[in-house]
Amino acid sequence: MNSPHLPSTTERRTIVTTNAELQARRAAAVPRGVGNATGVYPAKAKNAEIWDVEGNRYIDFAGGIGVQNVGHGHPKVLEAVRAQLDNYIHTAFQVLPYEPYVELAEKLNRLAPGDEPKKTIFFSTGAEANENAIKIARGATGRPGVIAFQGGFHGRTLLTLGLTGKVAPYKLGFGPFPNEIYHVPFPSPYHGVTSEQSLAAIDALFKADIEASRVAAIIIEPVQGEGGFYIAPFEFLQALRELCDRHGILLISDEVQAGMARTGKYFSIEHSGVVPDLIATAKSLAAGFPLSGVIGKAEIMDKINPGGLGGTYSGNPLACAAALAVLDIIEEEKLLDRSLSLGATVIERCRGMARRNDITAIGDVRGLGGMVAVELVKDRESKKPATEFTGRVTAAARKYGLVLLACGPSSNILRVLVPLTASDEIVEEGLAIVERSMIEAAA
Ligand code: PMP
Repeated sequence: MNSPHLPSTTERRTIVTTNAELQARRAAAVPRGVGNATGVYPAKAKNAEIWDVEGNRYIDFAGGIGVQNVGHGHPKVLEAVRAQLDNYIHTAFQVLPYEPYVELAEKLNRLAPGDEPKKTIFFSTGAEANENAIKIARGATGRPGVIAFQGGFHGRTLLTLGLTGKVAPYKLGFGPFPNEIYHVPFPSPYHGVTSEQSLAAIDALFKADIEASRVAAIIIEPVQGEGGFYIAPFEFLQALRELCDRHGILLISDEVQAGMARTGKYFSIEHSGVVPDLIATAKSLAAGFPLSGVIGKAEIMDKINPGGLGGTYSGNPLACAAALAVLDIIEEEKLLDRSLSLGATVIERCRGMARRNDITAIGDVRGLGGMVAVELVKDRESKKPATEFTGRVTAAARKYGLVLLACGPSSNILRVLVPLTASDEIVEEGLAIVERSMIEAAA
C-alpha cells in the first residue's frame, strides 16, 4: 500500500510539481551534507539541453560534472543499454564473468598510451578507481607512501579524501585519514608556482618526511578538475615521469574528469607524451551509468592476487554496454577533434569577454581542448578570488537558462564541461548567457 501522503509511482510521473516544492521535500528528507549547486529538478535531458519539472529549458555546461561528454541520452547509448537490459543486468563479474566487461577492457588497453601490454579492471565510482589504483601501487611495489597535490580532488572515501588536497568542505571533520600520504604544490603558472618549485617540494619531502624508496606512487590530475582546471605544464609531467623512473615510483594519472575526449585525447596525460603506469577513469566513460576503471601496465596489474580487487557491482554489464557505445561515439563523431575546436571557440569567446570594459573580473582564461575555465578575480594584479561575484554569475546564468558550475580552491573559477556533441549554436547560446550574466553580476 502506498502511504496516504505520497502519490504512487505512476501518479508521481504525471503530477505537476515545482522546483520549490521538490526543494522543500528534499530539505526535509535528504541531509545537508550532499550540497546542491542548483534547486533545479530535471524532467528530461537531451544532448546539451535539460528541461525542468516546470518546463523551463536549460543549456547544460555542467554535464552532470563532466559525465556527459557524449551528451544526455545519446541514442546509441540508449540502444546498447536496452539490448543489455534484455539479456541480463547483473551476475557479478567474480561469479559469472561476461563479455561486455572483457571487450571494454580490451578496447581501453588498446587506447591507453604506451606500447607495453595493459590490463583493465572496473569499479563503479571515480573514488573507487583511485582507491584501487593506490591499492595496486602499494601491493605491486610493497611500499606505503603516496604523493598527491595540493588542490587536487580524488574522491570522498577516506583513502581518497586523504589524497584530496582541499580541507573545506571535503575533509573537514572526517579525519584521521590513512597515513603515509603527502601533498606538494601543484604547478600553476598563473599563480606563480613553477614546475621547479613543485619538483623542489618533492625533493624536500624526500629529505624531511619519507625516503623516495618508500614511496609507492605519485598521483596527479594532469588537469585539475574540482581544483580549478589548472593544467600541469607538460615538462612538469615529463619531469615527474623521470623522477618516478629514477626512484621506482609508480605514476598514476587521475583522468576521472579530464579523460574520455574532454581535452581532445582519450586521456589528458597524452598531451605531454608521458606514459603513466596506472590510469584512473570514470565519469564520461559510461555516459551516466556508474562505471570506473583502472588501466595499467599488465605486469603491475597482475601483481595483485585473485580476490584482492573487485566489488559486487564493479563493472556492471549495463554500464559496460554504455561505455562500449561511448567509445564508438567518440570515434564515429570525431569527438577528439570536436573537443579541440570547441575548446578553441570557448577560449576565444571568453577572451573576447575579458576585453570588454564592463567585464573586469576575468583574470585568466585557460583550457586544454574542451576543458575550459575562466578564473574570476577581484583585480587582475592581486588575482584575489572573486568568490561572491562568481556565485552571482552562476545564479544569473541559471536564471537565463544555463547550468554553469564553479570550481577551484575559492569557488571562483567557472568551468565549461558542455557535452562535446553540443551544436555550435547551443554552445554560443550558452556563452552569450555567460557574458550577459557577468555583465549583470558586475552591475
Ligand atoms: N577524481 C577526479 C579528478 C574527480 O573530478 C572526481 C569527481 N569530481 C573524482 C576523482 C571522484 O569521482 P566520484 O565522485 O565518481 O567518486
